[in-house]
Amino acid sequence: MIRFNDILEQVTAYNPQVDLDFLKKAYIFSAKVHKGQVRLSGEPYLIHPLEVANILARLRLDTASVVTGLLHDTLEDTFASLEELRENFGEEVTQLVDGVTKISKITLKTSEEDQAENFRKMILAMVKDIRVILVKLADRIHNMRTLKYQLPSKQKTTAQETLEIYSPLANRLGIEWIKKELEDLSFRYLHPDIYTDIQRRIAKKEKERERYIEEVKRIITKKLFEYKIEAEVMGRPKQIYSIYKKMNAQDIDFDQVYDLTAFRVIVNTVKQCYEALGILHSLWKPVPGKFKDYIGLPKANRYKSLHTAVIGLYGERMEIQIRTSDMHQVAEEGIAAHWKYKEEKFTEGEDDKRITWLRQLLEWQRELQDNSEFLETVKMDLYPNDVYVFTPKGEVKEFPRGATPIDFAYSIHSDVGHRCIGAKVGGRLVPLKYQLKSGDSVEILTSPNHKPSKDWLKFVKTSRAKTKIRQWIKKEQRERSIALGREICEKEFRRFSLNFAKLVKSGKMEKVTDDFGFQAVDDLMASVGYGKISSKQIVGKLVPPEELEAGDKKKESRIEKIIQLVQKKPQDAIKIQGVDDMMVRFASCCNPLPGDRITGFITRGRGITIHTVDCSNVLNNDPQRKVKVEWDLRHKHTHPVRIRVICTDRKGLLADISSSITSNEANITNAQLNTTQDKRAICTFAVEIKDLNHLRKVIASLEKIKGIVTVERLKI
Ligand code: MN
Repeated sequence: MIRFNDILEQVTAYNPQVDLDFLKKAYIFSAKVHKGQVRLSGEPYLIHPLEVANILARLRLDTASVVTGLLHDTLEDTFASLEELRENFGEEVTQLVDGVTKISKITLKTSEEDQAENFRKMILAMVKDIRVILVKLADRIHNMRTLKYQLPSKQKTTAQETLEIYSPLANRLGIEWIKKELEDLSFRYLHPDIYTDIQRRIAKKEKERERYIEEVKRIITKKLFEYKIEAEVMGRPKQIYSIYKKMNAQDIDFDQVYDLTAFRVIVNTVKQCYEALGILHSLWKPVPGKFKDYIGLPKANRYKSLHTAVIGLYGERMEIQIRTSDMHQVAEEGIAAHWKYKEEKFTEGEDDKRITWLRQLLEWQRELQDNSEFLETVKMDLYPNDVYVFTPKGEVKEFPRGATPIDFAYSIHSDVGHRCIGAKVGGRLVPLKYQLKSGDSVEILTSPNHKPSKDWLKFVKTSRAKTKIRQWIKKEQRERSIALGREICEKEFRRFSLNFAKLVKSGKMEKVTDDFGFQAVDDLMASVGYGKISSKQIVGKLVPPEELEAGDKKKESRIEKIIQLVQKKPQDAIKIQGVDDMMVRFASCCNPLPGDRITGFITRGRGITIHTVDCSNVLNNDPQRKVKVEWDLRHKHTHPVRIRVICTDRKGLLADISSSITSNEANITNAQLNTTQDKRAICTFAVEIKDLNHLRKVIASLEKIKGIVTVERLKI
């Protein structure tokens, strides 16, 4: 059983200045909060964090990482809180523990490959600190080593997940021993029969192989020494999982796998690597197509080596890797090397502790122009365009950067999108404009009566959401236009004693529809609603010309007047919730100005009337008909505003006032003047104003004029 002192000894060996008290504090804390908990093996739970810390110490990681190993399960499995951790161990460790906990919470459908791919990408995207992954890998190794205590079904899922995610991750991070151990452990639980069989066969040949390894080692070392190359030669049986892969890929039996042993030649310099290669190729015949120069063209995970295969002593194929000891270290430790504790004298001038994951990735990017597997993944960090978030069920969803809860809602179902009224991220309410971050877990709130807003188009990022919102708006607009068109027609029809419903029933409307070249009556009505066809034109098709004239002599319908009036108004200065092309008019009671807080009222058949929110008529109107409106500030139109100026009645004052107004680029359309008995003048101007700011400017400059007492905007 592992003891805490073993870890302390290990850490002290590579980091003599280690803060032992900090480590001890973490150990005591972990022991306290995990007290009473046991593993499935029956051992005290504390064994697990100790083992994890031990693996991290084996990776020679810094103190924060080892401490995180001791504490990594405290947030998830005990009552310890983030605050408690922060208080006791500071921000760095707390962030690390929190990161590890977040990753552990991810549930995963291992059967789906792209889900796994998402997960991998997500991990890279979500962790700001690579040490989180290193701790998670250490955690996984210990869990895999003790997997036999789990239920068989759980064993399979965990093993599958490990093989699909964690060992590739270790590979991408360049930590070879972790990758191999995880692969073999997973394979053992996924295919226990094949695993045992290969293991047994390897064992059977063990003596034979040991002799063989010794022989090859001796030959290589001696030969290289002749050329004054000092080399360390290692021979090792191939990993069980890679033997299996080879058997599978080449469809061969175990006995046909010749290169069960791989050799590694470690030399001092890069030059010697190539020299050694030449020497070995002259010694044994190289297998064509097997030479790979990963020194000239390193792998994306920074792996460097020369690989070759030769026909060996007994006509067998022999794999050989040639590398320097530096390259060997990189291959074994990968990214972990960067978080390794280093004594100051070895830091080579770089602020190694602060090397960020990103900087590392950028370096790799520069080194590697060719497309390689890892690069695809790290691109995520280099060009952080994607975010990965979770559904409440723990599924991963991918979005472009800047995506919002609306995008998320539409990715579930268009109805969820249409009815989305809000969202919770990590249990907290967020605005609909909130930009999703990787790792967020998102819950959408809906209301059955809610409708999409046109404004959403301004901030949604996915084309799916955009399309669905546009479709909805179009449909909604069409429905409104049909209703409006029909109402306009019905009113016009009444003047000629026509009944809309009867006309439809008798098929007359159908004929008119046809005459105008539309498919359906609704299409015709929509066209009337949009103002493209007038109700008069329709009546013209239904009644003889003499009746039409008679009808015209009647008082022109109020509605027509209003439509004419309205159509001259700059209606595109207003945006209405989710609707385009509605008729808009500004209430004459309050004459709203862009910048004023406004509200709209639907008047059936008359479009929407805009008031300022404080207009007294607003209170009298039916709240049911209220619609949300806002200014579309892209459109510059002028609006009539009445301004009352009270001033002393002095000579030339009117000229001063009018020049002040015009110098502010406002146009006076009307002016009224009254003088009072106390020698004051009350002037009322109608001025064309662009917006509220414009008005403020005009008023401010009026107030500066000598003799002006008050300036105010008239609202009634
Ligand atoms: Mn754990």
